[in-house]
Amino acid sequence: MGKIGGFLEIERKNEGAKTVQERINNYEEFTIALHEKELQEQGSRCMDCGIPFCHSGCPLGNLIPDFNDMVYRGEWKKASALLHATNNFPEFTGRLCPAPCEKACVLGLVDNPVSIENIEKNIVEKAFSNGWIVPEPPKKRTGKTVAIIGSGPAGLAAAQQLNRAGHNVTVFEREDEVGGLLRYGIPNFKLEKQIIDRRVSILEKEGIIFKTNVNVGVNYDVKNLDYFDAIVLCGGATKKRSLPVKGIDANGVHQAMDFLTQQTKQIFNKPINGAIISATNKNVIVIGGGDTGSDCVGTSNRQGAKSVTNFEIMPKPPIGRSEKAPCHIGQSS
Ligand code: SF4
Repeated sequence: MGKIGGFLEIERKNEGAKTVQERINNYEEFTIALHEKELQEQGSRCMDCGIPFCHSGCPLGNLIPDFNDMVYRGEWKKASALLHATNNFPEFTGRLCPAPCEKACVLGLVDNPVSIENIEKNIVEKAFSNGWIVPEPPKKRTGKTVAIIGSGPAGLAAAQQLNRAGHNVTVFEREDEVGGLLRYGIPNFKLEKQIIDRRVSILEKEGIIFKTNVNVGVNYDVKNLDYFDAIVLCGGATKKRSLPVKGIDANGVHQAMDFLTQQTKQIFNKPINGAIISATNKNVIVIGGGDTGSDCVGTSNRQGAKSVTNFEIMPKPPIGRSEKAPCHIGQSS
């Protein structure tokens, strides 16, 4: 732990955002990064807990207190190595993860949690801009071949790990570009697509082969995969969920994935399947207030909807930590 009591002196600070007026005119990412010194200060808020619940809150088991400390000390390259030890693609999680680590952060019991996700994003961005992220091809090949079906985050991570273990890896993607939901499911304003390209280019240089427009079992005979020693299924979660209500098939009722995919394809002048779904000059209702719902709200606003109303089944969450949460400051236990 670099700075004893850093959390007592420094307030939590996260990256900023462009004004609504600025950001609804385009589909670019709209965050404003903190300065390096501010990020180091944020790293110093970490208490290096005896039992770091952030670590177990993170599904990847990221070494959070360790990289927080490295950032505080300005050791960004070491921080990047620590981060990549458990996370293949922090540039995706640093933008898109709902950050259960921050919900689990011990500091959150009495104060605002450490801004872990933002620190993570800045570590990997600094690593890319300094050229520290380079292809790491295996030293020797096993001679085994692996087919990976699906090039979303799971497919890409599996490909990187198996390739680094020395196997010859081929990734099959049904879309025209690699990335799965990262590519067309997540709006460009949350993840600009050059972020995917940047990583895929490293994976290609590591020796991974990507085949796009290949929908295994649909336009590609599964017998072609007989050649491989192993097949890893990394299909995405694009199966739609409907509502059991009258009128669900009425004109003007659309599924989020169709809407979001079309919009991202339009940005890149890609061919669109079916009629264009447009929110321009429409009164839009978005049903569902999670990440996908908020992506639809943001997309509708950018398309120039007349109004956007979001329905959410859950009650509105509190702005800060709930009074009912254990050990809230001011409570006796
Ligand atoms: S739980 Fe929070 S304060 Fe404790 S080690 Fe993890 S990030 Fe640091």
